[in-house]
Amino acid sequence: MKIIEIEVYQVDLPYAGGVYKLSGGRTYTSFDSTIVCIRTDTGFEGWGESTPFGPNYIAAHALGVRAGIAEMADMLLGRDPRQVDRINDLMDSTLMGHLHAKAAIDVACWDILGKAVGMPVCELLGGSTGLSMPIIDSTYAGDPEDMRRRVAQTRKQGYLGHSVKVGATPEEGGPALDAARIEASLADARPEEYFIVDCNGGLTVEHALRMLKLLPSGLDFVLEAPCATWAEHMSLRQRTNVPLIMDELATDEASVMQLISEKAADGIGLKVSKHGGLTRARRLRDMCMTSGLTMSVQETAGSQVAFAALIHLGQSIPHRNLRCVLDTRDMYPPITAHVDIPVVDGRIRAPQTPGLGITINRDVVGEPVTVYR
Ligand SMILES: [Mg+2]
Repeated sequence: MKIIEIEVYQVDLPYAGGVYKLSGGRTYTSFDSTIVCIRTDTGFEGWGESTPFGPNYIAAHALGVRAGIAEMADMLLGRDPRQVDRINDLMDSTLMGHLHAKAAIDVACWDILGKAVGMPVCELLGGSTGLSMPIIDSTYAGDPEDMRRRVAQTRKQGYLGHSVKVGATPEEGGPALDAARIEASLADARPEEYFIVDCNGGLTVEHALRMLKLLPSGLDFVLEAPCATWAEHMSLRQRTNVPLIMDELATDEASVMQLISEKAADGIGLKVSKHGGLTRARRLRDMCMTSGLTMSVQETAGSQVAFAALIHLGQSIPHRNLRCVLDTRDMYPPITAHVDIPVVDGRIRAPQTPGLGITINRDVVGEPVTVYR
């Protein structure tokens, strides 16, 4: 089987909630998505997506995704997409880094592999656990009482996990506002719920320590990505007993190796496109399982194509290590693909149809912006 064509589509994904606010005053209203279709000489087509969370989240941006694919496309034509590790070797030897550019290609190859053998991707990732996976929402930073209301709203929708964003600038209110946000968001917490306080690398160590000191004891949450650099993170690690989760600092095999060897965190946020696709995410999953780390499987951003990929990855992680999976579907109104994943009591399962189990909505993805053949 050979790749004969790579189509690249561009879709704008406006944020359903208006303005998404992250630490450090960063705001987002829309996300630029790249969706890829790979076609083979045997008539299979595979789909993948890569949508960076804006250009100032990690070192990835939407134009870079499409430029990276342009660098790699010629080398990929003629290759067997079912050899997912070899496809990644080839991408790595053609383009250093730029994992976001590799993600859509890699996921499309997994979709083809699944269709070719008639199995869902989660089975090929090691086998479905059969677990009904709790879903987590994403509550952007705002007024504490408004955050409490928004958490209550998603609780009513069935969400069992809540990712609460903090990271106020000094002008906005600094550590005191962030402590109030955490307290308000957790005010109605239920025992079965899981709370991530996500700083997206936006705090200084001093800010984080002041924020934690202002909190009443007994609040049950994990602190994700408090600081932007490894040195700051380790400084905080040595001075707090709050469980720490790495996200933006844990991107590839080297950084997760370092995390494990330095006992830098207690879990990580796995994101298919941040890691360059399912092939690398699978490696990192195994490293985390071996090391006893917990995982929440999320995405930087993305529509139904990216959602399907993360759900298959989550479905391959045993209960002990899996905290939750992100349901991105409510965040971005455009429906790029149909995927049959109902939410039942705040939990979901991967589809059991071959590949990713999606049907592309051609009215939404439109015409390709580039075709390599
Ligand atoms: Mg995060």
